[in-house]
Amino acid sequence: MSIDIFEEMGKNGTEQIVFNYNKETGLKSIIAINDTTLGPAIGGCRILDYKSTDEALKDVLRLAEGMTYKCAVAGENHGGAKTVVIGDAKKDKNEILLRDIGKFIQTLNGRYYVGPDVGTNSDDMVEISNETDYVVSLTEEHGGYGDPSRPTAYGIYMAMKAAAKFKYENNSLKDKTVAIQGFSKVGSILTEYLVEEGAKVIVSSRSEESTKEILSKYPNVKVVDADKIYDQECHIFAPCALGGVINEETIEKFKCEIIAGSANNQLADSKSGDLLHDKGIIYAPDFLINSGGLISAADTLDAGNVNVDRVMSKTEKIYDLTYKILEISKKEDIQTTEVANKIAEERIANINKLKRKYIRR
Ligand code: NAD
Repeated sequence: MSIDIFEEMGKNGTEQIVFNYNKETGLKSIIAINDTTLGPAIGGCRILDYKSTDEALKDVLRLAEGMTYKCAVAGENHGGAKTVVIGDAKKDKNEILLRDIGKFIQTLNGRYYVGPDVGTNSDDMVEISNETDYVVSLTEEHGGYGDPSRPTAYGIYMAMKAAAKFKYENNSLKDKTVAIQGFSKVGSILTEYLVEEGAKVIVSSRSEESTKEILSKYPNVKVVDADKIYDQECHIFAPCALGGVINEETIEKFKCEIIAGSANNQLADSKSGDLLHDKGIIYAPDFLINSGGLISAADTLDAGNVNVDRVMSKTEKIYDLTYKILEISKKEDIQTTEVANKIAEERIANINKLKRKYIRR
């Protein structure tokens, strides 16, 4: 490994890294706990065919930090963490591997709750729960919230409406053109909300099969090839597939006034956020507006029961928060991500102040 681990941890304040290896099962995983000031950490388990341990380590550190910011800005009493498993989810994922992940999570004794991410789903969480008490987003049959994609899509929809209010002084999306990248789980539910409101929706598709599926559900939606989505004339562009899609190259192409979507880490770098700000394209920060899924997991964990109405009403608050961030960004002439980061950092610093007194409980 070429990385100086302590130097990397110092860069983003990571509290703890745990390397887990089992020669018998073949499990190679890394858990990073970034910050537990707000409470026990929550974060998904990603199974990915990383090319090297360095690559997996860098990813887990970055993702765990992202979860700290997401929890803080969403007002949750949880910190940020993540698990990465080095492997191919299609080939390597099985009962034993998942249960082994659970065993290692149990050793952390509640400092960290695991949930689904790329390469894992709610069924896998059920498998993991055979070995640990610290799991979120179990299937509905097992007492969990199930698929978090609906609250996630609802949060994106709320952010779009807030951005429309900010830009056009009216939060209606009727007759607004919205280009969605990816008819993903989130992208398809978002399409449903937008079509229902009377928006004109454009969706990108990567295959003929997917195009047929989209058109059979939504005959009035315009479907374009995946590589044409950046060129679409639209009011709102919604990245709902991949990270890193806002970069110097795509910013040149965008013909939109607002960007609001579910993909994590949409900005390739901070410079891209500044470029959007300078061009006057409104960017609703991804980690703020895609927190509906996290809200569903944290709410179910903290309350000890599933309550869809409560989750949706908490998710609805993304509207006000997005609007507030857009106002501050305009007033202070700084990019929206910087504003959202500051709100998260201030909340963590303020909660930390509460910890100065010892109270016996
Ligand atoms: P998903 O599992 O449904 O898969 C992503 C989809 O994007 C696939 O259908 C794939 O074919 C498509 N895709 C990939 N590259 C594409 C491209 N270049 N153009 C068009 N389509 C492409 O995804 P999901 O769970 O709906 O999540 C979508 C995004 O939102 C991901 O980046 C995810 O990390 C993020 N996210 C999801 C949730 C959630 O609750 N599901 C929560 C937070 C963030």
